Amino acid sequence: MHVIYGGTFDPIHHGHLRLAIELCDRLEVERVSLVPCHIPPHRGDTGASASQRLQLMELALQGEPRLYIDDRELLRAGASYTADTLRQLREELGPDQPLVMVVGTDAFAGFDRWREWERIPELAHIVVVRRPGPALDPESTPARLLASRRVEDVESLRGTPAGCILELDPPLLDISATGIRERIAAGRSPRYLIPDSVWEEIRRLGLYGACPDGNF
Ligand code: ATP
Repeated sequence: MHVIYGGTFDPIHHGHLRLAIELCDRLEVERVSLVPCHIPPHRGDTGASASQRLQLMELALQGEPRLYIDDRELLRAGASYTADTLRQLREELGPDQPLVMVVGTDAFAGFDRWREWERIPELAHIVVVRRPGPALDPESTPARLLASRRVEDVESLRGTPAGCILELDPPLLDISATGIRERIAAGRSPRYLIPDSVWEEIRRLGLYGACPDGNF
C-alpha cells in the first residue's frame, strides 16, 4: 500500500511529523511519503520558496527511515493538482496496488472544489484525518461522498486499489504552520513546535522574518 500525505509544509512542523508516524502505525505501512506542493492552487504565496521548504523537510526527516519526501510536484512546472499526482503514481504502481491519499477534515470539506475531484476516488483511497474545527456539513458533497464510500478498517483499503474512504481520529498536536510563521515574524521562538534543525536553518536563511542573530 502506497500512502501519500500532501501539504504546503511552510514550514514542516511536529504536527505534520507526528501525524505521519501515526499513519505508519495505524495504516500498518513501512513508509509514508510527504508530498510538498509547488504552487498551492488553493492558497496565495508561501513564505518560503519551494526549494527552501524542501530543504527544511529534508532536515526534519533526517534519521527517520519511515518518512520520505516525494518531490514530484515541486519538479512539475506550474500549479500542482492532486489528480495529476495520483494519475502519475497510479501509472507507476500499476492498476492493482492500493494507493492512499491522506487529507485533514479541513481540506476534505472543500474537496469538491479540487480540480477533477470526481476522478480522485477512481485513482486512490482517501484517508480523512479528523481535525479540530467544524464537522463536515452533512448536506455537502464531500459528506455524501464519504457516506457512500466509507469503510471502517484498514483491511478494506488493502483489498482494493482505490475508491474507499476511511476516517481516522489519531491524536494530533495543536500546531499550525500559520502560527509558526506568525510567531517568528513577531520575534518569538517557535522552539519545540518544529525540530531544532529546522529552526536553525530558518534563522540562517532569514525565513518568515527570522532574524539570524536573534534568540534560539
Ligand atoms: P497552514 O497553517 O499554513 O495552513 P498547516 O500547518 O495547516 O499550514 P499544511 O501544510 O497546510 O499545514 O498541511 C498539510 C496537511 O497537514 C493538511 O492535510 C493538514 O490538514 C495537515 N495538518 C496540518 N497541521 C496539522 C497538525 N497539527 N496535525 C495533523 N495534521 C496537520
